Amino acid sequence: MKLPKGTLTGSMKILAPLLIWMSAGWFSYPYLIGYIYDAVGESIDIEELRTFSLIMTVVCLGLGILFLILGVKGPKLDEDDFKRMTGQLVMCEHCRLEMKKEVSTITCEHCGKFI
Ligand SMILES: [Zn+2]
Repeated sequence: MKLPKGTLTGSMKILAPLLIWMSAGWFSYPYLIGYIYDAVGESIDIEELRTFSLIMTVVCLGLGILFLILGVKGPKLDEDDFKRMTGQLVMCEHCRLEMKKEVSTITCEHCGKFI
């Protein structure tokens, strides 16, 4: 099944702020874990952790910004495409015109023939 154009645009709008939020979390992670280890009185290789968190910060921020741009500027979902996919809009096999499918409808509203 082929998804209609613009189906993922809405998902990207939701994922973008989450990824940006995650990048903020990765950025603050070595500082917070440093405070926690200091409070407990143990030591940790903070530089290795800082390198990994910096990579994750850049990756999450980059994806977040990309998804934000694609979510705002990307193709919009055509309402009719969505209705065709979910079966709310059907095509008459006799006259090839589209109409809304309803529970009571078994005849085409254009040509009057049974579907
Ligand atoms: Zn028809």
